[in-house]
Amino acid sequence: MQILFGFIVFIFGTIIGSFLNVVLLRKNTGKSLVFGGSKCFSCGKNLSARELIPILSFLRQRGKCFHCGSKISWQYPLVEFLTGLIAISVYSQVGLGFSMAFYFVAFAALFLVSAYDFKHKIIDSQLLYIFGAFAVVVFFLRGNYLSDIISSASIALFFYLLWFFSGGKWMGRGDTDVSFFISLFLGFPLNLSSIILSFWIGGIWAIILLLLSQIERRFISRRFHLKSEIPLAPFMALAAFFSWFFSSPLLFLLDKLFF
Ligand SMILES: [Zn+2]
Repeated sequence: MQILFGFIVFIFGTIIGSFLNVVLLRKNTGKSLVFGGSKCFSCGKNLSARELIPILSFLRQRGKCFHCGSKISWQYPLVEFLTGLIAISVYSQVGLGFSMAFYFVAFAALFLVSAYDFKHKIIDSQLLYIFGAFAVVVFFLRGNYLSDIISSASIALFFYLLWFFSGGKWMGRGDTDVSFFISLFLGFPLNLSSIILSFWIGGIWAIILLLLSQIERRFISRRFHLKSEIPLAPFMALAAFFSWFFSSPLLFLLDKLFF
């Protein structure tokens, strides 16, 4: 029964994921997020319902448009899959109910912020404030006002100084705001361990890029620019999600380290 529920929750997540794809594509382009059907970018044909089934349509059409055969971006099935994964992970932690809806929307908003950053190399403040609103609610519910505010402000200040002294070379200004809201969302001391974890993830990502660039120079130079700033928000978001998901063991680990 639980597996069946989990599967339904995953499917539900992928459907939300296809909406997130629309937001990623149309936000700040002047197009409506709700109205207007999906079209193929190459041939302009309107896509039917059976071409819009999350993940499955992409697999069945082998990543190509049904009408003209031009390639469809991997972004679509990937975002759908990851949103499904977020939904089922949140479900496994808090079960069905209000908490599930709350944390799923919060993490979906944070995911959207990082996916937008990954794609456009900029933090969209409107998307960030949606997550920020959830962070403020969690902050008030938790009630550890002083320690949460001091730790979150310190983390944000750290990122602000990195931005300031690198002249914007290492990271963008928007990463400061992302780090603040994530810290507020997680609370002390989880926010500290989460930020450290995000540097680890970022480091591993940089090593992977470096190794790939040794294997295929042209591939990397076309897709990723090692010298340009690495989008930090995706790493912070991933670390935050891991930290939240594994929060009790992590807190246990911190207890062992510090006390
Ligand atoms: Zn087409």
